[in-house]
Amino acid sequence: MGGVESRLQEVRQRIERAATRAGRDPESVEIMAVTKTLDESAVSEAVNAGIRLIGENRVQEAIAKFPEEERDYRLHLIGHLQRNKSKFVPGFFDCVESIDKKETALALERHCREKGKTIDILFEVNTSGEKSKHGFTSQDLLKEATDIVLETEFLHLNGLMTIAPFTDDTDRVRRSFARLRELFEELRGRADEHEFVTLSMGMSSDFEIAVEEGSNRIRVGTVLFGKRA
Ligand SMILES: *Cc1c(COP(=O)(O)O)cnc(C)c1O
Repeated sequence: MGGVESRLQEVRQRIERAATRAGRDPESVEIMAVTKTLDESAVSEAVNAGIRLIGENRVQEAIAKFPEEERDYRLHLIGHLQRNKSKFVPGFFDCVESIDKKETALALERHCREKGKTIDILFEVNTSGEKSKHGFTSQDLLKEATDIVLETEFLHLNGLMTIAPFTDDTDRVRRSFARLRELFEELRGRADEHEFVTLSMGMSSDFEIAVEEGSNRIRVGTVLFGKRA
């Protein structure tokens, strides 16, 4: 059994235990393999092991690495999207999980319209208060952006994403995930017809806490592929 395959099996077991502790169905948690900085062989290893969702954080790196069509997995952008890069996104990425401003959403809507392609998006929320992180910090701006995206034709708002603080303080990590869950419940009523269903939270160091707090998509790189260079 290959390295990624056995590591994936371990991740699944850890998800299962965390889900069981929280009284959740482990099958409800999807695993994204994050392949940033790695080459195509990491992607094929993950896909051969059964992964069907790949995450990348840079537009240019992804364009160089992935074919445009005939992929047997979904490809999500999870890093900050600069407005001048948004024209490359429609038809290439299946979802952008890191929309953190209404302006970026509207730029993406324009490029989607030009290409006649729809796209899924998540709003990234800064739940840690750390200035180094992207994401909505204001609930009012998040609600405003939600209402704006609901009026667009080509963007489908699927849910929320966050990155917890990098700290050993597990209470802070847990509060960060719990906060995203709260916002998710609040916004769900508004965004209903958009299949507002995804809570993307949890990385290699904290995915079990995320699952306990309701995550249904974890994004893991290190725990599958080893430490990045
Ligand atoms: C790199 C990255 C991940 C995966 O990080 P690991 O710690 O390697 O699991 C998840 N989400 C985002 C947004 C990332 O940039």
